[in-house]
Amino acid sequence: MEFPIEVLKRAEKIKLLLLDVDGVLTDGKIILTDKGEEIKHFHVLDGMGIKLLQKIGVEVGIISSRVSQAVIRRAEELSIKLLFQGKVEKLAFYEKVLKEKGLKDEEVAYVGDDWVDIPILKRVGLAIGVPNAWPPVNNYVNYITKCSGGNGAVREICELIIKAKGKWEEIFQSFL
Ligand SMILES: [Mg+2]
Repeated sequence: MEFPIEVLKRAEKIKLLLLDVDGVLTDGKIILTDKGEEIKHFHVLDGMGIKLLQKIGVEVGIISSRVSQAVIRRAEELSIKLLFQGKVEKLAFYEKVLKEKGLKDEEVAYVGDDWVDIPILKRVGLAIGVPNAWPPVNNYVNYITKCSGGNGAVREICELIIKAKGKWEEIFQSFL
């Protein structure tokens, strides 16, 4: 995939990628069963991208307004330790993470699709939207993925950051 130069420049500085869940790691749909379970669809392509990104030293974290066991399980599968679920006040968590990790706004990328994501999108160095984001969220982003949420958007972002850091060829060759 090809990415605009100005987006690659922002992506080069990224040390932490924070992801919203519904509409970003999934297509936003939730199946509620009679037993009270909540079922979400995650894409295996995204999982692979996250692992590759972690391999080159970029941390990945999850911020979700909804509390879901499926998200806890997915985070465990992908060795994601930075997981926040619950409050709508996502910005407070974002600021806490930055302080704890000693990171600057320009070293963080965030992907969101709904209004609650706008305060963080306005802060980060690399703000990313998805084609399925609800207006006017994408007015606050530096890049809109070609793939939609739950359908490879996160894999696309991982590829962007890996390419920006000049690690793409090395990673890809290791699979040949
Ligand atoms: Mg969302």
